[in-house]
Amino acid sequence: MSATVTKFGGTSLADAEKFKQVAEIVRADEDRRYVVVSAPGKRFKGDFKITDMFYLCYEKAAAGENIDVLFNEITERYNEIIAGLGLDLSVDRELERIRNGMYNMTGRDYAASRGEYLNGIILASYLGYDFIDAREVIFFNNDGTFNAEYTNDVLSARLRRHERAVFPGFYGAMPNGTIKTFSRGGSDITGSIVARAANAKLYENWTDVSGFLMADPRVVEDPKVINTITYRELRELSYMGATVLHEDSIFPVQIAGIPINIKNTDRPEDRGTMIVAETPEYDTKNIITGIAGKKGFTAINISKDLMNVEIGFGRKVLSVLEKKNISFEHLPSGIDTMSVIIKSSDLSGRLDYVLNGIQQEACPDTVSIDEGIALIAVVGRAMVKSKGTAAKIFKAIAEADINVKMIDQGSDEINIIIGIEEKDYEKAVRAIYAEFVKD
Ligand code: ADP
Ligand code: ASP
Ligand code: MG
Repeated sequence: MSATVTKFGGTSLADAEKFKQVAEIVRADEDRRYVVVSAPGKRFKGDFKITDMFYLCYEKAAAGENIDVLFNEITERYNEIIAGLGLDLSVDRELERIRNGMYNMTGRDYAASRGEYLNGIILASYLGYDFIDAREVIFFNNDGTFNAEYTNDVLSARLRRHERAVFPGFYGAMPNGTIKTFSRGGSDITGSIVARAANAKLYENWTDVSGFLMADPRVVEDPKVINTITYRELRELSYMGATVLHEDSIFPVQIAGIPINIKNTDRPEDRGTMIVAETPEYDTKNIITGIAGKKGFTAINISKDLMNVEIGFGRKVLSVLEKKNISFEHLPSGIDTMSVIIKSSDLSGRLDYVLNGIQQEACPDTVSIDEGIALIAVVGRAMVKSKGTAAKIFKAIAEADINVKMIDQGSDEINIIIGIEEKDYEKAVRAIYAEFVKD
């Protein structure tokens, strides 16, 4: 029997009315047999996501503070959903166990995961589907990495016993049985894992926008929807800040060649965005597929005469980062200069160590730092085939009177990355968008 896996994000499950919309969508297609849920998200501007409330509860409990008020708010939100759906269901016992877990310090990940866990129980009950706890079917290795093959074996065997089921997203189990979560937004990854194990024909990811947009709608007004995008392009854009889909969620479906469809829960009739392995289709008019970006980077700029002929210079610089377990984002270089672009949060409390280490290991002539850098990625599979993309980006940036501090291009030529000052970020994204996208 064919299956479509559907994942619903936090805003799609924020209250009872949203649950009803979700159930209507699931019931509208017989193939929607496996459903993955996030925790309840924001109902309105300024509201709190349940996941954030659970993190806060955990922190308060760890600090020995009283969590009663906060925990009661969480309880109320779930009870409101259950009452609004008219369900004969109580999650009081689960909530009691979770509250005790907070005091017994069962773990930060355990606390965070309970938002999805409770939502899964409620939606399963409302749909009349089985509930499968992710801790029984999704596994991590001792080093915290996801154990993909073991998970796939256990999960696919389990699915054969359940025609229809709801899974809580975001978490799984460590080898010793404790709960571990993926990084934030990780329910998208769970959806992809379930799609692979179910050998699904499609993975639908339902959210609050009508697809993957050409730019962040919080920066560009009413950006165009991307019709079709490849896994690789998507990974570049989501890694660079297009948060609509977690950047790691392509891996499980990529193995099985399952397409992903981003859909809008409020507008189910919209086509949304199809994410596929390859496509001969190009946006011949706009050339680029999308733009994304992030703030919060630091550039360490290093110069040394004759750096170009000094064998092992780059290795010496990077060994300092390796010792502190710091990864780098980009490594643009000139003949006698190189820069290392690093997330500022990764350098927090360690910048002096890194700068001194570079001095000692690599003996450069100068080392300087540029803080407050924003990176913008312009991504498009058509870029390989068309000339002048970089020129258009720089024209747009120059006309907006913005100074480019760094340029990088991936070897697969599907993205160009520029570094600018954080204060220019929004202006730069809008300028690039306007340069390329002519309705
Ligand atoms: P969910 O809770 O459904 O998982 P998310 O909040 O994780 O939803 O992702 C959807 C949000 O991503 C949108 O509401 C939008 O504000 C934001 N977003 C950022 N960049 C993009 C983009 N390029 N296309 C669509 N949405 C984007
Ligand atoms: N609820 C989790 C988060 O807020 C996971 C998710 O929504 O995908 O990050
Ligand atoms: Mg999300």
